[in-house]
Amino acid sequence: MSASLSAASASEDLPTLLVKIFGKDRPGLTAGLFDTLAGYGVDVVDIEQVVTRGRIVLCALVTEPPGVQEGELRATVHSWAESWGLSAEIISGTGDNRPRGTGRSHVTVLGNPLTAESTAAIAARITEAGANIDRVFRLAKYPVTAVEFAVSGVPADTLRSALAPRAGEFGVDIAVVAAGLQRRAQRLVVMDVDSTLIQDEVIELFAAHAGCEAEVARVTESAMRGELDFAQSLHARVALLAGLDASVVEKVRAEVRLTPGARTLIRTLKRLGYQVGVVSGGFTQVTDELRERLGLDFAAANTLEIVDGRLTGRVTGEIVDRAGKARLLRRFAEQAGVPLAQTVAIGDGANDLDMLNTAGLGVAFNAKPVVREAAHTSVNVPFLDTVLYLLGITREEVEAADGAVED
Ligand SMILES: [Mg+2]
Repeated sequence: MSASLSAASASEDLPTLLVKIFGKDRPGLTAGLFDTLAGYGVDVVDIEQVVTRGRIVLCALVTEPPGVQEGELRATVHSWAESWGLSAEIISGTGDNRPRGTGRSHVTVLGNPLTAESTAAIAARITEAGANIDRVFRLAKYPVTAVEFAVSGVPADTLRSALAPRAGEFGVDIAVVAAGLQRRAQRLVVMDVDSTLIQDEVIELFAAHAGCEAEVARVTESAMRGELDFAQSLHARVALLAGLDASVVEKVRAEVRLTPGARTLIRTLKRLGYQVGVVSGGFTQVTDELRERLGLDFAAANTLEIVDGRLTGRVTGEIVDRAGKARLLRRFAEQAGVPLAQTVAIGDGANDLDMLNTAGLGVAFNAKPVVREAAHTSVNVPFLDTVLYLLGITREEVEAADGAVED
């Protein structure tokens, strides 16, 4: 690094030139511009380049050339740009970019579609909260449009409370995460199973084989009305399965349907060195098989008691309920050696709330309003891999790692 570059970064009064090039992107263009500038012995203070639909915006902030060469530099850059069919603008000034404000966040917006109206509303809300949008870039165009705003000026919590409650109204999902190395640090992701990792409710799959779907649904509704707590409703529903042949377990395993994007999410997280686990108010008879099949690091659930080849209608071992899920998240984090602040929990139900609030980032996945409102953030599109975008991972990175697209 040259002495003048460090001087340029430090000095507010150092004359600098902002060179902006816009036009059709072609190979050799960036080299061409800097080759032209090199003739004047200037140093580079900053470079930003964006290509959108084949058009390039290239901004170079350089030190002013010595002596009377500025006019000559301007003329040379303009004639070079003209020869490439580009437009060029050169603005004189002093110093470097204005330093970014304190309180930096990543605001991820998921839209399906992302409308200009909702983008305007979000940008206005960020400004009203006293924050500044420093950079914007697209994380993904598939299966949803995901855009990330790098924002500074107010703490992430302030920004979150300004934006999150309005997401539904804007027709988008919004996640606000504090910037910093922690976001890149290795993490643990723990998911609920029923209606999160899988599209089904496992107890209902068992109930269908026992011919007691209606009774199970009645108990579920009563629990939802708050007449029974989770443990009571679990015992009441499992009791209805008493006498069922144990071969039903294999049938239920085969019926389980993964949520779209589940494999992509898990595969990508594992490649990035994350540890991934599931906690379920359902049954180990299903979660153990999922752990094996998906290469999960952790799995915990209730265990259906099977005696002499038949379900007894009881569960054994530690009950996984609302408090149990949060306890298991802590336990997995400890075993994984990951601080709680670097954990992510994903779930859809009221019994996931303690876990979502215990995690560093709690994601309500296609959840009921009560869960959505209590969680740090929510995803309301039916693709589990969109959670990757909340972590700042781009679709391009996912696909480059795969060498292919789909799951
Ligand atoms: Mg669930």
